[in-house]
Amino acid sequence: MTGSEMRRAIARKRDGAALEAAQWRQIVADACSGALDDAPLAALLMACVLRGMSDDETHALTEAFIASGEQLVAPDPRTVDKHSSGGVGDTVSLIVVPLVAACGVPVAKLSGRALGHTGGTLDKLEALAGVRTDLSPERFFAVVARVGCAIAAQSARLVPADKRFYALRDRTSTVPSRGLIAASIVAKKIAGGAHGIAFDVKCGSGAFVQTRGEALSLARTLVALTRGFDRRASAVISDMDEPLGPAIGTGLELREARDFLDGSRRDPRLRVLCEGLASTMLAVAGGGDAPREHAARCAAALAGGGAYECFERMLAAQGAEPHALRGLEPHAEHAVVRAERSGFVAALAPIALGERARELVAAHGPMAGIVVAVRTGDTVRAGDPLATAYGSAGGGADLVRCFTITDAAPVARPLVYGEIGSLSALRPTSA
Ligand code: URA
Ligand code: CA
Repeated sequence: MTGSEMRRAIARKRDGAALEAAQWRQIVADACSGALDDAPLAALLMACVLRGMSDDETHALTEAFIASGEQLVAPDPRTVDKHSSGGVGDTVSLIVVPLVAACGVPVAKLSGRALGHTGGTLDKLEALAGVRTDLSPERFFAVVARVGCAIAAQSARLVPADKRFYALRDRTSTVPSRGLIAASIVAKKIAGGAHGIAFDVKCGSGAFVQTRGEALSLARTLVALTRGFDRRASAVISDMDEPLGPAIGTGLELREARDFLDGSRRDPRLRVLCEGLASTMLAVAGGGDAPREHAARCAAALAGGGAYECFERMLAAQGAEPHALRGLEPHAEHAVVRAERSGFVAALAPIALGERARELVAAHGPMAGIVVAVRTGDTVRAGDPLATAYGSAGGGADLVRCFTITDAAPVARPLVYGEIGSLSALRPTSA
């Protein structure tokens, strides 16, 4: 695209009109080749944030993103993947991946690193000695075929255009655009090769989107966009106003997943969301079973030990040292954070808790972090434990401010706000 063509494209977007698919293709190609520098691309991104993007434009950008790199295809057409829009104490992937595999559905999960206050599944896996996540596509699908599931790093060869776009969005405050977010997420999932994708869109103060309306709208776009690429898709919208599971960290979350899968400790909130998402993943695998059957298959895989066995076999196939999982114990140094007054727990600050846990892990290793002892709505007496900070015997004092205690009971919030599963595919209407 020449300089004047790009200027006209930016002006078109600035004035609220849509770009053609061919223009999006050229812009992405030029961004990857280096022919397009940061200034015009940043201006275009800001116009997208302010003016929005049509469904056709979002589809065209996603298609161009996918074409910018390698594209994998899972050999088994039932293969599913799962994506969470990011949260604190979100141990769900570590639990549902082996759980769904134990139900007989192959799971090829591509994951990212921690971003800001949110945890990254790769960092949690690598808390275990020997585990590798940089699997070649051949090795990735070979582990899925043999064990039923694998969790690998999103390779830089998939959707390289997103790396360029995302870095510039980060620098120019142009991340929050529904179209840009959806194209970025869906392109990476499609290029990862799964045939069915379950999205977990987090909603609340610890998430990318804060309101239910925004979360619902993003969930609808993710599902429709994915279906437009002939993949099965569903989305769950879930709460992120407080950490999901009690453990916040890397190794502490891996240990929580272990205890959940072997049945020794199952947090009720984690259980509700894991069973819901596992059922959604079974549904997007195809086969047409009723939701009640999905729930029954999950319950059987948990109760019979199949899910735990899959977890151990996946970790071993990815290089875990024998007995390392059994040996995970929290950092010996710890400080208990106690309530300064009696009352109702009205709020837990997910961002501050996530950031503090990351600092503890960075300073004291993977078995450091935070385990919360209370939930919104619980009653406490002065002196009751609110959380334990692992890694530093003196590191808990500032954590007490992450908990708001009031005289009046807070309004109860649901954990799952809704599910998007029955939209027709979003397809471009123009060439
Ligand atoms: N996650 C992504 O991968 N991309 C976005 O744009 C936002 C969240
Ligand atoms: Ca994640």
